[in-house]
Amino acid sequence: MAKPVGTCGHCRLPIEDSDVVVIFEDGRLIHVGCWRVSDSATSRQSSDPVRRSRKLIDDSRRRLDELHSLADRRMGDLDHAARRLLAADRDRANDGRTGGW
Ligand SMILES: [Zn+2]
Repeated sequence: MAKPVGTCGHCRLPIEDSDVVVIFEDGRLIHVGCWRVSDSATSRQSSDPVRRSRKLIDDSRRRLDELHSLADRRMGDLDHAARRLLAADRDRANDGRTGGW
């Protein structure tokens, strides 16, 4: 003697005592089967690409940061190399000037 305790918020069919339902905070009842269907149809399809694109943006931002720090380091290396070259030139010039002895 199962009596309906409400109607499914998804398929509108009466919910029986024997039905496995999901009870939402606002009192709505939905068959677990309907909830899974609607969950995969709405929340998964709508939220996952968003999450994925956010992750992509985060990833590209992180990669950009890495590139920037890499460029900074490269510039530092270039600076170092240029200074070393200049110093070597100066040393060679000094050697030429003092190369007599
Ligand atoms: Zn249902």
